[in-house]
Order: sequence, then structure tokens, then C-alpha cells
Amino acid sequence: MSLDPYKTLGVDKKAKPEDIKKAYRKLARKYHPDLNPGDKAAENKFKELSEAYDILSDSAKKSEYDNLGEDAFYQRGFGGSGYQRPNFESGEFAWADLFNDILGGGRGSKKSSFSFNRGFSFGGGKKGENREHTLSLDFRTALVGSEVTLDLDVQEPCSRCGGQGVLSSGGGVKACSVCLGRGQVTGRQTLKTFIPAGVKDGQSIRLKGKGWPGENGGEAGDLLLKVSVVPDEFFTRQGDDLRLEAPISLYDCLLGGTVEIPTLTGRANLKIKPGTQNGQTMRLKGHGVPASGSQKKAGDLYVTVKVTLPEKLSVEAQALVKQLAQVAPASRV
Ligand SMILES: [Zn+2]
Repeated sequence: MSLDPYKTLGVDKKAKPEDIKKAYRKLARKYHPDLNPGDKAAENKFKELSEAYDILSDSAKKSEYDNLGEDAFYQRGFGGSGYQRPNFESGEFAWADLFNDILGGGRGSKKSSFSFNRGFSFGGGKKGENREHTLSLDFRTALVGSEVTLDLDVQEPCSRCGGQGVLSSGGGVKACSVCLGRGQVTGRQTLKTFIPAGVKDGQSIRLKGKGWPGENGGEAGDLLLKVSVVPDEFFTRQGDDLRLEAPISLYDCLLGGTVEIPTLTGRANLKIKPGTQNGQTMRLKGHGVPASGSQKKAGDLYVTVKVTLPEKLSVEAQALVKQLAQVAPASRV
């Protein structure tokens, strides 16, 4: 689709460059995407205005258009391959010029002193980058799940220049000294999210749309939380099961009994049979990794006995043990 730049800007063919510029500035201000957020019609109108101005503000393009007429200009103008319409998405288009014009700065004023790099909300925008963040979880939190608060760097609109990147100065514009023309500054953002029960060390959790913002109205990237689980003092994990080495006294092992052992959520009673050996492993059903969304059943807890012996025996105790050794000899190598 071609466009009549004179009609678009509402000027006639004899209009002087100043009149063309004036007409463009007036209309561009009215339809500027920043002043009409989310308004697709205004955005399209602004693109048309910009394209019309691109043709009429360039004396070579303008004279070709005047000589060839609309159809031929679009088909054959400019190097024989037709007029190249401004590429609004790639940023090749001279936004700095246009922006200066709209804000009141003249062409060639300060435009080259800063890089013009703001996101216009045109369609076909670029999706933002994914970002990675390492989330350190203690062993138990990783197993039972928890809400966590993330502290992230974010890019925010600069408050000094209102995200414009430039400030008005004596009728012209100059780059904002706070954000150095970027229009954005680095800020902090806290983000709360729920970590599901049972996440594993090295696993990634994807938070859709919480990555870096898109450009030109594109959707934001994703935030990838890389889980790093801090090992526990007591428990180790094996799939859905947990393992624990429990110190059990010699007497409990010899005589049997009930001992309390730590579990993930508190304590549980473990029955010791008489004659339990060092290194023997017992299973406590359901005391492993808790059930969660993807995992229907809780895992089990495997307790390995580590027999503790009295360190120093009194003379009386030694006599008793000698007696015991005689009536209940243990196997030896
Ligand atoms: Zn600024």
C-alpha cells in the first residue's frame, strides 16, 4: 500500500520545507504513541505521518516522488527497487531526528550526543531476553515448598526525565544527565513466588513474563530460577526418599526399645528390635519427601543405625561387661 505524503500531512505540493515540518510536528505530537498508549489507530497514523515526512523532508525523495507520481515512486523510486518504507521495528529509522523535531529541537541540534533507544509500542515488537537468577534454598524448604521473596535488578523509567531520556533546555533538548539518555535507570524489585515442594538441586523454575522487558511492545522474557539446595546436617535425599544416620545406644540395640529420631517435619518414634546391628537400616514409611502436585505419594525415610558405645567404663562396669561377654558371646573374626 502506498501513501500520498501530501495528503497524509495535509499540505499542498507547493508547501515550503518549514510548512511541511510544522504540519508534521503538529500531527505527530497528536498521534505520538507515548501520548496514545495502546491506541492502534493512533500508532498507525503516527507511522504514516513519519513515512510521509521521511519522503517530504528529504529533497531527493521529494523530487522523485513529485516527478514519478505515487505509484511509480513506490515501484521504481530510489535505486529502481522502489521506495524503502521506514523500518519502524528495526530502529533504522531516524527516531532521533523525529523526536527532536516533535519536542522542538531543530535538526542537527543535539541529536547525535545521545543514543535514542526507547521502546515504542509498535506491533511486531521483540520479545525480551530470559534472565537467570540463582535461588538458594535450604534442604527442608526445598522439600516442603515455600513462598520466597526474590530481590531483582530491574530497569525502570527515569524519574528525572520521565523516561524520555531528554530534558527541555532553552527551547531545545539535551540528554538527561541522570539516565544519560537511556530513559531508564536500574532499580530494585521484590518478587514473591511460591516454590513447589520437592524441587531438586540444579532444577530450573520458569516464571513466565518475569524476565527482561520486550522491545517495541514485545512481551517480556522469562525468569529462570536456578535452584541451589544447601545440604542438610542430618538428611540426604535419594529421589523421593530420605536417608538419615541415627546414633542409637548400645543398650537400645541390645535390648530393643523405642527411640525418637528427627524427621523433616518434627520427630518420630523408631522401634528398635533387640539385637539390632550397627549399620542396619530401617524404613519409616511416609517420612520421606512429602507428596506434592506431581508426586502423589510421600517418600520414605531410611534410618541407618550407628551404634554409640560408652567411652569410659568404671571398674564396676568393666566387671559387668566381662560377665556379659561370657554369658552372651558375640561373633568375632
Ligand atoms: Zn533520565
